[in-house]
Amino acid sequence: MHKQPGKDTLRGIIDRLAEAYGAQDWWPAEDRFEIIVGAILTQRVSWTNVEQAMLRLREAGCLSVLTMLATPRDVLSELIRPALFHNVKADRLLAFCRFVERRHGPLLGVDALLELPAADLREALLGVAGIGPETADAIVLYAAGKATFVVDAYARRILTRLGWIEQATPDEVVRDRAMADLSRNAPLLGEAHALLVEHGKRRCLKRNPRCPECVLAPSCAFLLSSNRAEVR
Ligand code: SF4
Repeated sequence: MHKQPGKDTLRGIIDRLAEAYGAQDWWPAEDRFEIIVGAILTQRVSWTNVEQAMLRLREAGCLSVLTMLATPRDVLSELIRPALFHNVKADRLLAFCRFVERRHGPLLGVDALLELPAADLREALLGVAGIGPETADAIVLYAAGKATFVVDAYARRILTRLGWIEQATPDEVVRDRAMADLSRNAPLLGEAHALLVEHGKRRCLKRNPRCPECVLAPSCAFLLSSNRAEVR
C-alpha cells in the first residue's frame, strides 16, 4: 500500500530501517579519542581504509593526544597513508591534538573537552582546522554521546528522495528537524545515522537505487515519480 510521500516521521523511517538491517551499534572504536581520530580519517574515504590506518596507529602506540603530538608529522602521515589524503589528514589530526593540548592539557584533554555541553562542543570543534559540520557532529554524537544529527550525503540523498526534505533545505534545518523528530535522544540519533549510511550503501545507491528491495518504497516520492514517468 502506498503512503503519501514526505508524510512519514523520521522516527517511522528509522524504525523501518532498523527492522530491515538490525541494530548497528556504532561507533566501532576502543575509546573516545579513537572515535575522534576515526571521524577525521573517514573524511572522503570508506571505513575499510580507516580501519587499516587505525591498526597502524594502534601498532605504533600513536592513539593518544600525547603520543600523537610526539610523533613527527611525516611519520604520522605515513602511518595513516591507507586512509588516503594522508598529508592533509595528518595536519588535521595534529591541529586537533594541539587544540586539545592548548585548551585542556594533553593528558585528560579529550575527556574535559567532551564534557562541554553539546552546542559549545560543536562550536569549539568547528573552530579546529579541517573539522567541518559533518565531522563535528559525528564527534559530538559518538565520542561525547550527546544529541545531534549528522547531515551527510547519505542522509541528504535518502531524505530528499523520500520527500522528507527538499533538495534546497539547508543542513542546519535538516539537523534541527531530525533532532526534534528523534526527541533529541542521542542513542536513537546515533542509530539513525548508522542506519541511513547502511541504507545508502545497500539500497538507496547514488545511481540505480534498488527500489524493489527497499522497505521505504511505499512512501518514497522518488519511486512514485519514476513510476509515473514510466506510465506516461
Ligand atoms: S524506494 Fe528507492 S529511492 Fe526510495 S528510499 Fe528506497 S531505495 Fe531510495
